[in-house]
Order: sequence, then C-alpha cells, then structure tokens
Amino acid sequence: MNKFIHVCAFVISITCTVIGQNHLCGITHEDESSLMPDDTPLLRTRNALEYIPIKFHIVTDNNGGGAVDFNNLLNQFDQLNIDFKPFGFQFYLADGGDLPILKSTNLFEAPRDFPGEIQTQRYANAVNVFISKNTYDSSNGGVIAGYYTRMADHIVAQTGYIGYKDVLTHEMGHFFNLRHTFYGWEDDPYNELKHGNPLLSYDAPSYGVEVELVNKENCQKVLI
Ligand SMILES: [Zn+2]
Repeated sequence: MNKFIHVCAFVISITCTVIGQNHLCGITHEDESSLMPDDTPLLRTRNALEYIPIKFHIVTDNNGGGAVDFNNLLNQFDQLNIDFKPFGFQFYLADGGDLPILKSTNLFEAPRDFPGEIQTQRYANAVNVFISKNTYDSSNGGVIAGYYTRMADHIVAQTGYIGYKDVLTHEMGHFFNLRHTFYGWEDDPYNELKHGNPLLSYDAPSYGVEVELVNKENCQKVLI
C-alpha cells in the first residue's frame, strides 16, 4: 500500500502544474481536508494487477446534444490505464461496458447544483465518472476542468478535457484518497516575493494548513 500511495502522489504531482496554477481542479477544501491516505500494509501478491471497475456516465442536454465524442472517451480510458499501469492498476468498464447517456440539462450545465440527481444515477460497484459540458455550479466562472467529491463519491470531468489528457488521472488520484501536493496553496500559489524564502508563515495561505518543513521536524504521524 505504501507503494500505492507514493506512486499515486506522483500521479497527482505530475498533473498539478496545470491543475494547480490555473485552479482547474474543483475539489473543495471540505473534501480535500477529509482525504486521509490509508497506509495500512495490505498483503498483495507481488506485482499483481489491481482491477478497478469504472462507470462513465455521458451527460447531454435534455435533447441529447453535446455528448462527449465517443473516440475521445475511449482514448481517455486508454490514457487512464497508461498512467496507472506502472503502478499495477488496470481499469475496466463496469456493468458489462454499459455507457449510459444521461439526458439532463441540469447536470449538463451545472452538475454541482444538482447532487441529488447525480446520486440517483450512481452505479454502486464502480468508480463513477460523469462527463459533462460543465463541471461547475452556477456560482463560479467555469474554470474547473474536473473534481472529485468524497462526500458524494463521484468524479465529474468536463467534456473538453476528455481524450489523451491528464485531468481524469488527477481526479482519480483524489478518488484514491490523495490530496494535492500543494495542499493549502490552491488559491494562492507560492510566490517568493509575497510569501518569503524562507517562508514568512508556516501556515499555507488558502486554508491555514500547516506547511510541512523539508526536514519534517513539524510533521507528526498520527498513530491509530
Ligand atoms: Zn485536484
């Protein structure tokens, strides 16, 4: 499991430049603060693949318009497996490969505004990924490419970021309980002139999260 956490941290970090600097990941602080990687050792056959079911939901408007391009979706599925293959993860299409079309202008335009509607569509035995025109709610500016919500346990990814792209890989890292490698700096990326070098404060600006020092002297592992 340690290997799993470390490699997935890598997955988050390789995509955080795009996601972080442009604030394109929409995971909420409430969700992110609740993520806590479980590093309890698990017995596994060495080098064995972990098979992970995934369920894509293709969201369209009420008339069926605006669906993600099917080839792009398959390419994204391929990319996901490419990204996670070195770590022993193999995704497969759940529910016999069924790819439901979800005709809902509500979810097409502002999925976060209609969490109950998403809940009724979730498939219980897979990672649920909703592909929609928009990923945000009606109150923000549409700069979010995707997000994972732990509370409602699903991913939403914007149609324009589906293909041989890395947004879904990043959000899948959150599904696996990983925070950003820049946790606490989401809304105010480090700037030497502003934040100092060494840091003027050990609390990250976004949420007051304590910043771990390089020598880890202020980092304590909580033993349960
Ligand atoms: Zn993120």
